[in-house]
Amino acid sequence: MRITVLAGGIGAARFLRGLRAAVPDADVTVIGNTGDDITLHGLRICPDLDTVMYTLGGGIHEGQGWGREGETFAVQEELAAYGAGPDWMHLGDRDIATHLIRTRMLDAGYPLSAVTAALCERWKPGVELVPMSDDRVETHVVLEGRAVHFQEWWLAMRAAEPAQGFVSIGADTARPAPGVLDAIAGADVVLLPPSNPVVSIGAILAVPGIRDAVARTPAPVVGLSPIVGGAPVRGMADACLTAIGVETSAAGVGRHYGARAEGGLLDGWLVDTADAGTEVPGLPVLDVPLLMTSVQLTAAMATAALDLAARVR
Ligand code: GDP
Ligand code: CA
Repeated sequence: MRITVLAGGIGAARFLRGLRAAVPDADVTVIGNTGDDITLHGLRICPDLDTVMYTLGGGIHEGQGWGREGETFAVQEELAAYGAGPDWMHLGDRDIATHLIRTRMLDAGYPLSAVTAALCERWKPGVELVPMSDDRVETHVVLEGRAVHFQEWWLAMRAAEPAQGFVSIGADTARPAPGVLDAIAGADVVLLPPSNPVVSIGAILAVPGIRDAVARTPAPVVGLSPIVGGAPVRGMADACLTAIGVETSAAGVGRHYGARAEGGLLDGWLVDTADAGTEVPGLPVLDVPLLMTSVQLTAAMATAALDLAARVR
């Protein structure tokens, strides 16, 4: 079975671990969000790709959900001693090695997809991890009278200043990375995991051709809600949804993605049992436990998503 998953960071990575446990023999292609990418201290950092790679490769800091386990911060402390900012993105020593290799390979002319494949040779995530694009696309947040990089708004400002909108810089001319469109068109199932619908899934869909490929794939497309009981399970996705006028609820996100029968993306929508009774026009909605508190429970979520996919198309 070929499964293609559009993925952000922590939510997607945890889901993917459950999916791998549920169907260990499936061919899984992960189309990773690179809208969160940023250059700091001369290093190219791809937080969502790394979160997926470390989580599936067994190197993630389990408690945090991002960054490396057993991390130290000597380099960051030294940078601070020089007064070299910014300091709002935690860069661990182990993690910096990843960014050094990535930056060096990019500078040598390798596309990000090739760099990501090279990094995955070490981590062996058990999936094909492909960035959404080899072209640089960065999410910026529109605030009163200015715009800042998504990471500055998210990490330094904790999304406290209301966003007026998001701009995907570079998206208009970006092309999907090699293999992305084929992975969507040729899948047996396409899944939208519980990722941020705006700055993770939305950023991927903003690359020209990707939204269309999802809307037209012969494969069933099933999504899982990142919103449970009217709030994000973790993080500040509500601040992103509010900015684009979408209600922070399982129904709101389901309507935002929309039913394929009505010009949207989905053939089925999974919500948490806390949201039983959720209705989305044109879509079968199923409620199952959606809290990824263990790999076993997450595998059950993945199985429910695949079962729904098999039923809807
Ligand atoms: P990020 O890039 O690290 O922010 O990660 P993603 O975009 O992949 O996912 C973020 C979303 O995952 C947030 O909106 C959370 O609400 C959601 N999330 C995190 N843990 C869980 C969980 O256990 N269950 C569900 N349903 N959603 C979760
Ligand atoms: Ca992210």
